[in-house]
Amino acid sequence: MTAQEALKKYFGYTTFRPQQAAIIEQVCAGRDCLVLMPTGGGKSICYQIPALLLPGLTIVISPLISLMQDQVDALKAAGIAADALNSVQTPEQNARLRQRCREGKVKLLYMSPETLLGELATLLTDVKVSLVAVDEAHCVSQWGHDFRPEYTQLGILREALPNVPVMALTATADKVTREDILRQLRLTDPEIFISSFDRPNLSLSVRKGMDKKEKLATIVQFMKERKGECGIIYCLARKDTEAVAFHLNIKGFKSVPYHAGLSPKERSEAQRCFIQDEVDVVVATIAFGMGIDKSNVRWVIHYNLPKSIEGFYQEIGRAGRDGLSADTLLFYNYGDIRTLESFAKQSGQRDINLERLNRMMEYAQADVCRRRILLNYFGQESAEDCGNCDVCAHPPQRFDGTILAQKALSAIVRSEQQADLQAVTDILIGRYSPVVKRHGFDHLRTFGAGRDVPGRDWNDYLLQMLQMGLFEIVYNEDNHLHLTAQGREVVYGRQPVQLAVIVRQMNTARNAPKRASELKLEGLLKDAAVNTVMDKGLFETLRQLRLRLASAKGYPPYVILTDKTLTQLAILKPTTIEAFGNVAGVGEYKKTHYGKTFVEAICHYLGQ
Ligand code: ADP
Ligand code: ZN
Repeated sequence: MTAQEALKKYFGYTTFRPQQAAIIEQVCAGRDCLVLMPTGGGKSICYQIPALLLPGLTIVISPLISLMQDQVDALKAAGIAADALNSVQTPEQNARLRQRCREGKVKLLYMSPETLLGELATLLTDVKVSLVAVDEAHCVSQWGHDFRPEYTQLGILREALPNVPVMALTATADKVTREDILRQLRLTDPEIFISSFDRPNLSLSVRKGMDKKEKLATIVQFMKERKGECGIIYCLARKDTEAVAFHLNIKGFKSVPYHAGLSPKERSEAQRCFIQDEVDVVVATIAFGMGIDKSNVRWVIHYNLPKSIEGFYQEIGRAGRDGLSADTLLFYNYGDIRTLESFAKQSGQRDINLERLNRMMEYAQADVCRRRILLNYFGQESAEDCGNCDVCAHPPQRFDGTILAQKALSAIVRSEQQADLQAVTDILIGRYSPVVKRHGFDHLRTFGAGRDVPGRDWNDYLLQMLQMGLFEIVYNEDNHLHLTAQGREVVYGRQPVQLAVIVRQMNTARNAPKRASELKLEGLLKDAAVNTVMDKGLFETLRQLRLRLASAKGYPPYVILTDKTLTQLAILKPTTIEAFGNVAGVGEYKKTHYGKTFVEAICHYLGQ
């Protein structure tokens, strides 16, 4: 069997994505590889197909049991001999599984690094191992955001299994992490594959300066526009996950919180509900999501600014893995910056973390195409605007903000640089807040000089000015604002300032104008086109059928067929098993096992 044939037979796809074929070829030839591909890019196939083609066993190292289980379910549903060796199973089950490995009846065996170390001297001495795939390989790096000490022991593979190729896979691309992986796993003359990090099907939007109430109202509106579609909301604080989930439940959206303070049982239950499409949304801290392979997550909201672009990109990357359009929305306000600054300062890597945060703020504050900023961050230049972000949809209007900037900067000067951002706002609008009274700021000439502009707008303009480098926040001096040399130029009238007009639209609709670049969406049917040609009633019927089949097997629904495949079925309406088998995402196993049921449902729906 060739790689191409395996792709069709087991996964139901006819063409490889860029790089996949080359990676598979190298791995099958026994070469060590490092594969960097964005989440949803299709990494799994890069070791699953070699596993099917190579004679022996492929070991897959994975950090989380839930992740393994999910993958194993999906593989079994495609008729592939995969299994996981872990502590969730009884010792008897594991013993039987080891026996099946010895008999050569298992092609892919998933395990954690700890399990691997335990099996090296036993199981792995009497089975033929053809390949070791280290998934989520960035976990070896302390620089990464998912550092796992167990991963650092994987270097031992080189001696323990000397002639077995090792393949490292990750969606985290920054350079430090990359080098850590190569060094720690001791890859020999590895071939390095770096895929495009662009995920054009994810829309990107940012809402600045909203308070809790406004954020919640925006989220409710956003979810109303996406009835029946599920998503993830990320919060910084545990208590926010609970509060937001509570609020959404009241508003009629099924929501569960997820954070490290819950018991393992509560967490796995939340995860299960999410995977099985039983809830609309999981409101989570960053503890949630790694290892969730759910392909039909249709949106991701960040309730707070994330710590870094890497983390942010991973998190939004959990949406739209099936390649269909998905939306992302980021809320961002001054409170977030303050919290994150203090986290960064207290972390062991103060400077790096402050730098990461700065880059994240640049993204949030951007007035150029946001995707270009993201891609640039990953070292990928793009020549054109994406047409699928809020900046592209509504290019910011600018005005001469020199006078406003001068007012704000002179308030900073007159406070003798003893005021933080909120205090400066208070001075500008003439608010007798406790801090104003305490410092006697109400006696300053600038007190109330900016009364004509609402306080929240001042907050926004100040953030813009911060981003322009007109002043800085001095974190080790109670966050007081200090003028920079550039800011002085503005105060003394030597340099004009352009500010962006503040737009406070609550509008979250997905009808942002999309441009020609949308056509880039390789092989992707446009939403508009899909909606006109897709039979929604049929889609719903098939979705219910999928849910029944999945529940009967204890699988997540998307393991049976993905949303993308269901969409295709609702467009193409195949009425023979043969035609069903030709739909993308339907492999031989699924054709044989589900073809009849789905074709009957389609015929019944069509009244045939
Ligand atoms: P990740 O890189 O995050 O591990 P996955 O391996 O889970 O991504 O793949 C994401 C989705 O893309 C899956 O639904 C998978 O079936 C699909 N996919 C992978 N390769 C192809 C391909 N060559 N053609 C079509 N779909 C593919
Ligand atoms: Zn754009």
